Amino acid sequence: MIARCENIINHNVSAFISVQVDLCKHFVGNSLAETTSHCNRTEITFTFVAINLKGSSMYSERTYNVMEKIFKGLVWSIPTDNNSIFITFDDGPIPEVTPWVLDTLKKYDAKATFFCLGKNVEKNPAIYQRILTEGHSVGNHTYNHVDGWRISKTKYVENINKCSEWVNSRLFRPPYGRLRPVHYKMIKNDYSVVMWNVLCGDFDKRLSGEKCVDNVISNTKPGSIILFHDSIKAYDRLIYALPRVLEYYAEKNYSFKPIVNFL
Ligand SMILES: [Zn+2]
Repeated sequence: MIARCENIINHNVSAFISVQVDLCKHFVGNSLAETTSHCNRTEITFTFVAINLKGSSMYSERTYNVMEKIFKGLVWSIPTDNNSIFITFDDGPIPEVTPWVLDTLKKYDAKATFFCLGKNVEKNPAIYQRILTEGHSVGNHTYNHVDGWRISKTKYVENINKCSEWVNSRLFRPPYGRLRPVHYKMIKNDYSVVMWNVLCGDFDKRLSGEKCVDNVISNTKPGSIILFHDSIKAYDRLIYALPRVLEYYAEKNYSFKPIVNFL
């Protein structure tokens, strides 16, 4: 796989290959095949491949360090000189989960950032308003969770624009962490692209709630951006992990801050 990638991708991005290979070591099953196929593209794909990884090794600090160095235009963590951490929720707002998240955050006086789907805000405007009223930030997560690897640049930007009719923000997070350079170039003057450097894994039905808590606690530092999901798929693990993570860091006098617009 290494040789094949190197034949296709020029030396200016050879670091990308080493990251891919490094990450591929952690891959299993279809995820490996998927990454291999993406190595075959002449247009290098920004991949935050941790979302496809399995098990605890996916949260390797070394991996994040390498990725952050290569993808400098993206926000992976937020420098802070105090014990602030930045909790984020993707894919809401939905009535089954988001109000519970807001109630839970309120108990700990925690502020967070919600990367919303335009279609969910369209359906649930009152919950979106509640997010804002309670002092949280919001970000654009496309209108209907389009995959940046499988859509044209025009349609991708159209989808982000459609979301912006519902979500007023200059923060953007690509669904699945998948963003092609051509997409990034088209949106970088309008949005700060916010990724994450701590993934709890709540979307992964094979993980326990305890494991999700451990993933966060083992990897979070001041300035970390932590990814949760206010989605039905993640709910079983979220209801276990979120209060425990908040309790753990509240006891250590951390504060939970919203991500503000950088632009
Ligand atoms: Zn998402």
